[in-house]
Amino acid sequence: MTQTAKPTRENRTITVDFNDEATYFALLSDGKAFIECIFAFLLSLGFQLHHKASCSGGGGLTRHSHYARVRLGGLTIWRVQCTTCKAVFTVLPHFVLRYRTMRPEVARDALLATHGGLSLEWCAVIGHISPMALYRLVCALGQQSLVAVLTRCALPLPVYLLADEKHSKCLTDKVYLPTIVSGRVLWHLGYSASKSAVAFTASYGAFQRAASQQEPSYRVQGVLTDGFDSTTKSMRTLFPGARLGYCLRHALNKLPDKLVGLSTPVRQGLRAQFHALLHRCRQRTSLRVVALGQRLRRFADHITTTVGAEHGERVRKWFQDKKAGWYAVLADPKMPAMSTVLDQAHNAIDRKLFAMKGFHHPGGSQAAFLTGLAHLYNLIPYQRRALNAGKCGVEVEGGRLPTSDWMLNLQILTSGGYQCTPEPPHH
Ligand SMILES: [Zn+2]
Repeated sequence: MTQTAKPTRENRTITVDFNDEATYFALLSDGKAFIECIFAFLLSLGFQLHHKASCSGGGGLTRHSHYARVRLGGLTIWRVQCTTCKAVFTVLPHFVLRYRTMRPEVARDALLATHGGLSLEWCAVIGHISPMALYRLVCALGQQSLVAVLTRCALPLPVYLLADEKHSKCLTDKVYLPTIVSGRVLWHLGYSASKSAVAFTASYGAFQRAASQQEPSYRVQGVLTDGFDSTTKSMRTLFPGARLGYCLRHALNKLPDKLVGLSTPVRQGLRAQFHALLHRCRQRTSLRVVALGQRLRRFADHITTTVGAEHGERVRKWFQDKKAGWYAVLADPKMPAMSTVLDQAHNAIDRKLFAMKGFHHPGGSQAAFLTGLAHLYNLIPYQRRALNAGKCGVEVEGGRLPTSDWMLNLQILTSGGYQCTPEPPHH
């Protein structure tokens, strides 16, 4: 089993929407018209092509580009070469999946069922395909990083993050899925066999590298975690200078554990008071940190007088440990305060992994498979009765999609040959 995706040669495939198959076949005989059509498509997307680093061609194709027809699995396709850097782009029409005999319509149904939490085996039965073919398809989508795909949707790199690890099982081993979420979008879904700070730093580091590559001046302002030591350590290593906050809802849920031996109504009563305290501090417009400090002290005193000094002391120690993280949340109004959206993403991914019992195929890549699932999470629209019905996570966050068809978007956005137009650094 390998943890990282196998290195593949530079993939410069581009998926192009020709509207219908007849248009595509009509264009095949006319190279010039074909190139014009690709031009128009690129222009409508606002994408550039991923040339070699040395290329001064400006990211486009010129009308002088070389092109050649090749036969691929019974279908004629075009390869176009940049005259400057010699990069070769394989043009795939929208009705073909890269390296796959599976038709996009079949893949669409199978992926949708997968996303809904149906097992790979059942999805395969529905689509009359093999479970392995579906597994490989998800892995193939996962070859493109989340950062690459999301920035192609014009989403800015997240300045505030939620980071936490999902505990999962790979066969009988305990494993961890380090995750970064911002709003409704997954920016990182990694895989780690260890919960050490070193292992988490390695996983989250993949996001940090991809983001810095995309935008060298990228800086994270704030990160919300649940306060787990390895997570905060890795965040401190990767994003020095970022505010590190601890989730307030997590704090709320932890308080009853600190009041061992007390009756449930008493513990719940104190939890309710703690909830009101945090809520009031968040409502304030100024001096939020000072107010929280005062109220935490008073609350610990209150516990001492109502349920005894031993409890008061335990809670006071806990406050001492955690308060810096809570202060960080209140110090910046833009900091996320609760990890609710991250928990939702984890629950969604968990349903799939549980139903599949298998992101651990021998010889498979967990990293690629999980990234593929994360693309589905970001790009498949929510169901009819959901809050953001008909929209996908990327749209909810203000991203721009190439087309109104999620499957086609998935094909286009995970094409290796596209590159988003570099934007001037924002201030
Ligand atoms: Zn070039």
